[in-house]
Amino acid sequence: MKKKVAFYTIGCKLNYAETSTIEKKFDICYYQKVPFNSFADIYVINSCSVTKNAEVELKRIVRIAKNKNNDAIIIAIGCYAQLNPKEVSTIDGINLILGAEEKLKIEYYLSRWFFNNNQNGGKNTTMVFSMLKKDHYSYLPSFSIGDRTRSFLKIQDGCDYKCSYCVIPMSRGNSRSDSIENILEKIKFIFNKGVKEIVLTGINIGDYGKIYDEYYGYHRRLYTFFDLIQAIDKIKEKGRIRLSSIEPNLLKYECIEFLSKSQHFVPHFHIPLQSGCNVILRKMQRRYKRETYEEKVQQIRKLIPDAYIGSDIIVGYPGESHQHFLDTYFFLKKLDISSLHIFTYSPRPNTKSTSEIKIKEVSKKIQWKRNKILRHLSKEKYISFCERQVNTKKTVLFEKNSKNKEYLYGYTENYIRTKIQYHSSYENTLLNVSLIELDKEDGVMIAAAEPTQTPPSSG
Ligand code: SF4
Repeated sequence: MKKKVAFYTIGCKLNYAETSTIEKKFDICYYQKVPFNSFADIYVINSCSVTKNAEVELKRIVRIAKNKNNDAIIIAIGCYAQLNPKEVSTIDGINLILGAEEKLKIEYYLSRWFFNNNQNGGKNTTMVFSMLKKDHYSYLPSFSIGDRTRSFLKIQDGCDYKCSYCVIPMSRGNSRSDSIENILEKIKFIFNKGVKEIVLTGINIGDYGKIYDEYYGYHRRLYTFFDLIQAIDKIKEKGRIRLSSIEPNLLKYECIEFLSKSQHFVPHFHIPLQSGCNVILRKMQRRYKRETYEEKVQQIRKLIPDAYIGSDIIVGYPGESHQHFLDTYFFLKKLDISSLHIFTYSPRPNTKSTSEIKIKEVSKKIQWKRNKILRHLSKEKYISFCERQVNTKKTVLFEKNSKNKEYLYGYTENYIRTKIQYHSSYENTLLNVSLIELDKEDGVMIAAAEPTQTPPSSG
């Protein structure tokens, strides 16, 4: 009888793409994939280490799995498992912990666990396999397909930057990328499978192009991000391409200009700012000043007025005074962006910012207050962005396998969440719509199908 195996992803789109690839490493002759909230023999949890919350989340997910089957084997992979395998091994219920390299051979390590466990008389021991961080050289090409309407395609991994609060370079290693040839091949494959939208993901996608060179023994730049987007835009297959987060200093004018005329790339930018105060940006070791950020936003607005521009902000960084926060607030207020993701600073082990926290910690109460103020600002910005789009015509990719039969949800090319009266033929379809009105309660735009259209065939 086949063993049942279930998967869960914590964290970013890149983790999601990798989970999807790791799922395929389980031989379908011996394993059957089941939903995570059902009984399984093996639960694989892809962990994250970006915030303290993501670590707490791992414990919660392990408990859920144990409640489904107390005898299940639980495998932790991903950033947290790589960064701090010792700490992960103290979480009750986890049997196998695999680092960044080892997760690529998950079936092999699982068989080693079975062997070891049999030798020990079935005592459900915990085993850790995790190489040293400096040996992070492998690149795991990944994409997700099947579960969601959109597909996530990994183009790059790791980061060579040293932002003072970030653990990612420690958990994912140096910056490295897939080749342009491989990426084009995968995009064609995914579109030919009927997927209508692909999101290009990575840790620092603007740094795309460093490939491992066998001769030199390190990763060196063979391509640029601009090379990649130009190559992608030439493909004949139909479908939309969306970029995930890109660092402001790496989003060059030539790229914005090219994207403004692209046939595949949608007008969507996610550009992390982190702080609107240059003093804090310097402390964070970010590689730009706020003036650079402002310039990028202006360039996008000039060439693509309707583009969605999202940003990330960290509040309560050590030493962020009231004045620094006000600088950020007023900078953001005048910036023509569409919405913000607000993160509250949390110290991550072995990062530079943790040494500053002892003397200049911002209290939890103030952090919470600042977070709330910026969330409010984000809502205002999103509403204003959406209201500018009312009465315009857009193309929405509506979700597939919708459980809701009253409304169908989807995103416009410029990332406005939209709903339309349910019609089965709209599922997984790029539909031309008019944006009628913003439902402010749930922040969703109400759309109507363009009257000239006959209902499309699904798929
Ligand atoms: S750019 Fe900075 S924040 Fe982003 S992954 Fe690299 S080090 Fe972390």
